[in-house]
Amino acid sequence: MAVTSMAGSATTGAWWMRRWTKFMQQVGVASDANELRGLRVKRLEVQPGLIQAQVVARRHERIANRRKGTLHKLARGYVNGFDVITVEELNVSGMVQNHHLARSISDAAWSAFRQIRTNKAASAGRRVIAVAPHFTSQKCSGCGEYVPKSLSVRTHVCPYCGLVDDRDVNAAKNILRKGLDEAIADCPTGTG
Ligand SMILES: [Zn+2]
Repeated sequence: MAVTSMAGSATTGAWWMRRWTKFMQQVGVASDANELRGLRVKRLEVQPGLIQAQVVARRHERIANRRKGTLHKLARGYVNGFDVITVEELNVSGMVQNHHLARSISDAAWSAFRQIRTNKAASAGRRVIAVAPHFTSQKCSGCGEYVPKSLSVRTHVCPYCGLVDDRDVNAAKNILRKGLDEAIADCPTGTG
C-alpha cells in the first residue's frame, strides 16, 4: 500500500500518511493480544459481576472504536488535502489470502477505510476515481515500458530508463496518472 501525490512521492511527511503506515503496521492483521499491546489500549477495569465474555466483548468494542476513529481521521486527511483521489480497484480478499500481502492489509480495515473515504469525499464535493488494476505494478511510471516482476520483488528497477522506485510507489504513480487521464477524459470540453 502506498500513496503518492502530484506534489511528490510517498515519503511526503503528511501526518495522515505517517498515521496510515503506523495504523497498518499495528492493526493490519495482528492478533488480539498483540493489538492490545501495540495500541496501548487502556486496561479495562474489571467490574464485579462482569463475566469474562463481557470483558472480552468490551475490549473488542474499544479496538473497533479506535480503528474507526483512526480511519475517519485518515479519510479526512485525504479529502482535505486533495481534490481528486485515484484508487486502484483491488480484490481485497484475494490479497489477504496472499501471504506476501496479508501482513500489510486487513480486509475489514481496508474496506471500511474505502467506504469512509468515499463518503467523506462525496460530501466534500471531491472526486474518487477507481481505476482498473491492470499493469499498475508492472508498468514503469517513468517511461511507460512494461517491466514484469513477481510479487516478491519489492523494488521497481527499470532497465529502459533507469528508474528505481519502491514497487508500491511506482504502482501508485501509475494509478494516479490513470485516474487523472480518466478525469480529464470526463471533463466537458465546451467553452461554457
Ligand atoms: Zn522506465
